[in-house]
Amino acid sequence: MKIPQDIKRYVLKRRLLRIALWLLSVGIISLIFFTNLDSVLDSSYAKIRIAIYVVVVILTVFVFGIPKLLFKKSFIGKIVWLEVVTKVDSDMRMGFIESLYRRVWVNAIIELENGKRIHKEIASKRTQRLTVPSKFQRGADDSFLAKQYSVGDTVIFIAGTKYCQVYSENKENLTCVVCGEFSPFDNTKCDNCGHTILKG
Ligand SMILES: [Zn+2]
Repeated sequence: MKIPQDIKRYVLKRRLLRIALWLLSVGIISLIFFTNLDSVLDSSYAKIRIAIYVVVVILTVFVFGIPKLLFKKSFIGKIVWLEVVTKVDSDMRMGFIESLYRRVWVNAIIELENGKRIHKEIASKRTQRLTVPSKFQRGADDSFLAKQYSVGDTVIFIAGTKYCQVYSENKENLTCVVCGEFSPFDNTKCDNCGHTILKG
């Protein structure tokens, strides 16, 4: 399938920004470890210190999600199994104001074109309690979210994006692969961020 130019640009920008942030963090970690290089190498703990440095740098690769962002491949497949999981959780704001919220996950098993099956979280949203959920608002309610997906839908994932597109001809709404919000099916651009809505 042909990937729209604006999505390509978004993926490139996202990758470059993440790599830049990662390099910056490696730079800061290197400064912390090796500011006083002679004393580091002279000390009897030199080997341990260098080993810790290497481990910390390798960890940052995963903290910044570099493998996922660079090496995860695009795919197209069909949903063969679907589940919606809802969990209530709470936040403590300023240490004493407790706010409850629900988090909803939509998990699916997707059969790829080559017959291979993968398990993937295709959507997750946090629903704030005590607010009136509106259809297209951030944190739309869980029943709305669950209704957007069905077995047999096509799932399109473009490497470097955060959200996958779940498509079928009779959908009312389609997801934006950049920001994850829903827009009416006939839209060519996302209502929230203006990126192209992927179709089929
Ligand atoms: Zn969007």
